[in-house]
Amino acid sequence: MAARFGFEVLSENGGARRGRLTLAHGVVETPAFMPVGTQGAVKGVTLAQVEALGAEIILGNTYHLHLRPSDALIARAGGLHAFMGWSRPILTDSGGFQVFSLAGRRTVSEERVVFQSHLDGSECWLSPESAADVQARLGSDIAMVFDECVKWPVTRDEAAAAMQRTLRWATRGRARFEALSSGTATDVTPSNPGQAQFGIIQGATFKDLRDESVAGTVSIGFEAYAIGGLSVGEPTDVLYDLTGHTAAQLPPAAPRYLMGVGMPDDLVNCVARGIDMFDCVLPTRNARNGQLFTRRGPISIKNAQFAEDSRPADPDCSCPTCRAHSRAYLRHLYMAGEMSAAALNTVHNLHFYLDTMRGIRKAIEFGRFDDFKQGFLDAYTRPQRD
Ligand SMILES: [Zn+2]
Repeated sequence: MAARFGFEVLSENGGARRGRLTLAHGVVETPAFMPVGTQGAVKGVTLAQVEALGAEIILGNTYHLHLRPSDALIARAGGLHAFMGWSRPILTDSGGFQVFSLAGRRTVSEERVVFQSHLDGSECWLSPESAADVQARLGSDIAMVFDECVKWPVTRDEAAAAMQRTLRWATRGRARFEALSSGTATDVTPSNPGQAQFGIIQGATFKDLRDESVAGTVSIGFEAYAIGGLSVGEPTDVLYDLTGHTAAQLPPAAPRYLMGVGMPDDLVNCVARGIDMFDCVLPTRNARNGQLFTRRGPISIKNAQFAEDSRPADPDCSCPTCRAHSRAYLRHLYMAGEMSAAALNTVHNLHFYLDTMRGIRKAIEFGRFDDFKQGFLDAYTRPQRD
């Protein structure tokens, strides 16, 4: 019997919230970071390692899994949890972001988005209803509603049109989700009867469009709400400003998820603005490129200065990589193209992100989040952005 969706705010410290999210496959302590498992795998590491690092929820990509191996195959295997051998909660995105950023030639109509698969060029499509169907077959604990994503920068007219379409699609996506969960729709069997669905706030960097999106999405009614369309290239102060502005209007009783964010200091700064959930490819993707996050800021392990550096990647880190290996060894593995370089670097970076969230949660509990934030930001040097 699946647990019912629930969220409890345990304590607050300024704008920061310490919460507990109850999902069909378990409890997630918030603020939480969700490692990204694009193709049913967190790149570079095994799921046993991800579990040992303390991740309580991971993210799967609807677009990728729909194309390969297909949601129908995964449903026959018993759903995504059974297929992957992962028993903790999973969130699936709607596929919207990938359709708009990754797919080949696409045609957007009010009804659906027709696109070419990036794998073989074949014609595929997703609609608000089919994105709900795919996620019902996958059986994630949290499904995301299908939205239209815009690039940055974007004109106000383009942002307004995409936001309005996202609202119309949210009405359709929610109706289909409710038909699936209540059993009125019988053509698709949900793999997880306890699935929840989150709405997505759009509106690019225009505050009045964000306000309109919040009002419309909340009136449709979802278990919780995500802030989408940020961290797409806008300046950091704009990201923080829009996040704080939007989060403050979302219902306080529901968790708030900031999609695709971010750098470690972004997490700290956005928790301060009321965000409860994050996901980002940075810790895993950058690990494979040799970038290791530390409390003093990221380092590039390929640099010659580390060739004979016997210290661990981060002297303050207690992860399995730092307990056993030096920067010199990690640099050697990277330069030699060893597969274990990706694995060891990913373990460290995921540990750093998850441990930062543990520190944030503890600080909020003890009512000293502001001190934690100041200490973190004082020590952390952000690299120059491109
Ligand atoms: Zn480490």
